[in-house]
Amino acid sequence: MIPNTNYSQLKESYLFFNIAQKTKAWQDQHSGQRLLRMGIGDVSLPLSPAVISALHGAVEDQAKAGSFHGYMPECGAPFLREAIAAHYQTKGVDIDSEEVFVSSGASDELGDILDLFQRGQTVAIMEPAYPAYVDANLMAGNRILKVEASQEQGFLPLPEEGLEADLIYICSPNNPTGAAYDREQLRKWVDFANQKDAVILFDAAYEAFIEDPEVPHSIFEIEGAKTCAIEICSLSKTAGFTGTRCGYTIIPRELTRGGMNLRQMWIRNRTTKTNGVSYIIQKGAAAVFTPEGQAQIQENLRIYKENAKTLMRALDTTGIWYTGGKNAPYIWMRCPAGMDSWAFFDLLLDRAQIVGTPGEGFGACGRDFFRFSTFSSPQDTAEAAQRLAHLL
Ligand code: PLP
Repeated sequence: MIPNTNYSQLKESYLFFNIAQKTKAWQDQHSGQRLLRMGIGDVSLPLSPAVISALHGAVEDQAKAGSFHGYMPECGAPFLREAIAAHYQTKGVDIDSEEVFVSSGASDELGDILDLFQRGQTVAIMEPAYPAYVDANLMAGNRILKVEASQEQGFLPLPEEGLEADLIYICSPNNPTGAAYDREQLRKWVDFANQKDAVILFDAAYEAFIEDPEVPHSIFEIEGAKTCAIEICSLSKTAGFTGTRCGYTIIPRELTRGGMNLRQMWIRNRTTKTNGVSYIIQKGAAAVFTPEGQAQIQENLRIYKENAKTLMRALDTTGIWYTGGKNAPYIWMRCPAGMDSWAFFDLLLDRAQIVGTPGEGFGACGRDFFRFSTFSSPQDTAEAAQRLAHLL
């Protein structure tokens, strides 16, 4: 037996471990002092009433012979696939329900989708990046081509002369930088992928935070995307499903490579490798797409967006460079006074009792930057903003 030796390529991720260790050490020495946690990428508000009511209803369905559901269709329940397709139509994107695949979340799909492609592909990953992109591709034995983003391009790199890649991960709005591509910029990536026969894996996990009308919610708003892109989305941040688990993937009928149809291949994959997402969860997810559900999730999103504004106002008083916050629940700021991100982490913890996330954890080019998340309570965010402005 030979194990998958690609696993030996994986680097230990010390990021959240180090943060936890440092935070605990500080707390042991300063018992009784309250820390403001502005680092977490998890939501803090509960599921909306429409979702809770649908979940309860679905549990009751499972209690009675007449409404009980056993195995669900592997690619997703028609009622949810149709609700998602109808939601795309409201954004002006023509997707039909059979191009929608219900999943247990975006993380699962970002790695599993690699089953569609031959091993040993060259995969372009823009850094700083959500760490799962790199690790899933290392496990799959792919070759990673890091496309480094910088402050000069607003952390929105564009395809450059000489770039050769089979797969391209794009996350917009981005985690960790919060930067989001506008239509014109995304069109450059779509044209590039079509020209090179590459496939874009578009991570739209934060689309619900977009405020700017120039920023597309879906890559399929861009002409030509249906022949070069797969969109992976999640209800985690949109509707507070981080612990409930549901997402969806869009593979257009038009997407073919080497004479093979990727949507057909994914149907074959799903019918082999899953037995679908639970009926109860899919009922809860479908409630997100009702008018009532949409209004309620907007209320939660509004609170996170207000948090972002509170932090941005504080940063604006300091003159420090930052991006994000406008279309995403993350703010990515340049560390002050030439500090690196771990030095700033220590300073912030020690002098302002704020825990954030050092940019270096998302790739070497994040060394001088720092991520704040806006998922905390408005009270903690306001307090953190005040302390931050004072410190800086
Ligand atoms: N993609 C990005 C960019 C994320 O930041 C996250 C979670 O933080 C995910 C995907 C994972 O989402 P899910 O909870 O659906 O697995």
